[in-house]
Amino acid sequence: MTTILDTVVIGGGAMGSAAAWALSRRGRQVTLVEQFGPGHTIGASHGTTRNFNPGYHRPEYVAMVAESLDLWHELEQDSGETLLAPTGIVTHGPEPMLPDAAAALVQAGLRAEFLHPDEAGERWRGIRFDQQVLYMPDGGQLNPEAALPAFQRLAVARGADIRHHTKVVSFEVADDGVTLGLESAAGTEVVTAAQVVVTAGGWTGKLLGAAVGRRLRIPKLTVTQEQPAHFRVADPGAVWPGFNHYPGGSDYAGWYSPVYGMHTPGEGIKAGWHGVGPVVDPDRRSFQPEPVQLAALQDYARTWLPGVDADAFEAISCTYTTTPDEDFILDRIGPVVIGAGFSGHGFKFTPVVGRILADLATGTRPAPEIFSASR
Ligand SMILES: Cc1cc2nc3c(=O)[nH]c(=O)nc-3n(C[C@H](O)[C@H](O)[C@H](O)COP(=O)(O)OP(=O)(O)OC[C@H]3O[C@@H](n4cnc5c(N)ncnc54)[C@H](O)[C@@H]3O)c2cc1C
Repeated sequence: MTTILDTVVIGGGAMGSAAAWALSRRGRQVTLVEQFGPGHTIGASHGTTRNFNPGYHRPEYVAMVAESLDLWHELEQDSGETLLAPTGIVTHGPEPMLPDAAAALVQAGLRAEFLHPDEAGERWRGIRFDQQVLYMPDGGQLNPEAALPAFQRLAVARGADIRHHTKVVSFEVADDGVTLGLESAAGTEVVTAAQVVVTAGGWTGKLLGAAVGRRLRIPKLTVTQEQPAHFRVADPGAVWPGFNHYPGGSDYAGWYSPVYGMHTPGEGIKAGWHGVGPVVDPDRRSFQPEPVQLAALQDYARTWLPGVDADAFEAISCTYTTTPDEDFILDRIGPVVIGAGFSGHGFKFTPVVGRILADLATGTRPAPEIFSASR
């Protein structure tokens, strides 16, 4: 016998949890299914820190930064959790879009100012600066390990059904709904949902599988295994903002990509290359760092992060799911709402992505055109 449901959210990572939260706030009957258990570390939303970096210049993203800040604070109120540590963000290096980002943020009512590298070096002595420094005081660190349970807890309080250890093993799209095969310890169950919200991270391509091409056309999704590391703090007195460093403008040649980083309380200073990890199948990962990139990251830390011990570190393993233009996919095709391709920069926008996916699922309003699946 097939169970009929209103909305099924596939994936209990950041985006699925936020979609369930946003839909439950509108009184929709929501069932979220997640293949693994709470707090698993196999996708993209684990750990205790992510940068809330406001440094965007395109209007759609700047508007989402401003709305996210409000919604994170609202979620903190509703959940009683502290989710955003207001450490500020500094972005440095010869990135031409920084002046545009500063102007766009100020216009949106957010703070942004350029500092001389010497002044920045005095304020944040754990980091070496040699070029323009954009300081964004409204930035900080978000805590996924507190945020995901908060989204889910509030959704359950409003009637959502959250099922961990429940995997979608078949996915059939029809005009009037989607039929899903669910596998759990209780066995296999077939459900039909009026609509589904697909927030399956690195597994999106696999899940949509045959449906893509027949009914669904979406940009290519590339899954990579990213490998930042937590370096031991060598200067306990140093104050740490979140940071981003763009290559160039100096004689340093050890770059793989821009670097991002932050202080993770109790674990050290996280630093990582952006989006250059090996391409992987999310079900067949090594969870081991690629040694050459890791050595280059240590060299970066030795050169640019005087506040850490570059030889004492813990490697981290996590997945990016990246689109060719690094813009998200937020769209609806028939009964299928898709939230995918967050390209290593989605966490800060989680509550707004939840709002947009709920808008798409309830037909309230379309997502910004830059996120369309058919672009
Ligand atoms: C190392 C690293 C650093 C990052 N740093 C930042 C940062 O500083 N700032 C920032 O804004 N963003 C950052 N990000 C990006 C951010 O973490 C991601 O964009 C976000 O977590 C993506 O969430 P998601 O829900 O799409 O994916 P996921 O968390 O991977 O969730 C997808 C879920 O779907 C489930 N699933 C898949 N298939 C099925 C199925 N068939 N049945 C049931 N469940 C299924 C999976 O088990 C998984 O739990 C970083 C990402 C990484 C990896």
